[in-house]
Amino acid sequence: RIVYVNGEYLPEEEATVSIFDRAFLMGDGVYEVTSVLGGKLIDFDGHAKRLARSLSELDMAEPCTMDELLQIHRELVARNEITDGLVYLQVSRGSAGDRDFVFPDPEVVKPTLVLFTQNKPGLDKDPKALKGTKIITVPDIRWHRRDIKTVQLLYPSMAKMMAKKAGCDDAWLVEDGFITEGSSNNAYIVKGNKIITRELSNDILHGITRAAVLRFAAEAQYEVEERNFTPEEATQADEAFTTSASAFVMPVVEIDGVTLGDGTPGSVSLRLREIYLDEMKKAAV
Ligand code: PMP
Repeated sequence: RIVYVNGEYLPEEEATVSIFDRAFLMGDGVYEVTSVLGGKLIDFDGHAKRLARSLSELDMAEPCTMDELLQIHRELVARNEITDGLVYLQVSRGSAGDRDFVFPDPEVVKPTLVLFTQNKPGLDKDPKALKGTKIITVPDIRWHRRDIKTVQLLYPSMAKMMAKKAGCDDAWLVEDGFITEGSSNNAYIVKGNKIITRELSNDILHGITRAAVLRFAAEAQYEVEERNFTPEEATQADEAFTTSASAFVMPVVEIDGVTLGDGTPGSVSLRLREIYLDEMKKAAV
């Protein structure tokens, strides 16, 4: 695999980052994951804009222009012959050659930019989408700037492991009695014609897929309600699903051991998945 690190395309074995890099020592970095379908990038613009926002919220410099970022994405997709897969991008505050809580001077220390691809043939044909996923709820004990897409993913990883140990696919996180979001996706329930998902705030990541799906849902005449919902309300819903750039719209068929509907993916979830994939493939760059 050819990867990108600070201006160079290299075989992955030859790519290096300093042990003093602040993403490594302090989780001082942000990331984006953009999917590739048919060799093209899905919603690159949305990811580039969110990246710029994450960097700005953390007073981090942009490592290059967004146009250059697009070129790097395309170059990696081409060099690795990716038809379906993902491009992972990470920007860290860089390395000052030592460990210090104080941010290094941005005039002296430049951000570290790393990108690599993941080859995932048939990414949009995951059989899980036809079977549906099982969810458990766990406490949300993350920090309170979840709107910034940082590489601090320890608790989401732990939540995912708790789900696995419980024989489930993923975890939804609960704070003050309400679902915030999934370990690596936004969470939704469906009641009749109504799609319910938590409103945007610093409590959740502003999903790029969420924005597109809610737009398509409104266009398809579904009612969209952005509000908090409890695990109890979720278990009584007709359907549930998650959204993320790497799994698109993923139906949920079980929450905390309670089967939703007849235990198969709901029609609204499947329809939104189809619309999302159709429309986003058409708009891919
Ligand atoms: N919430 C969290 C916590 C996530 O990690 C992700 C995926 N990175 C999402 C939501 C979904 O965001 P997106 O649709 O932009 O992938």
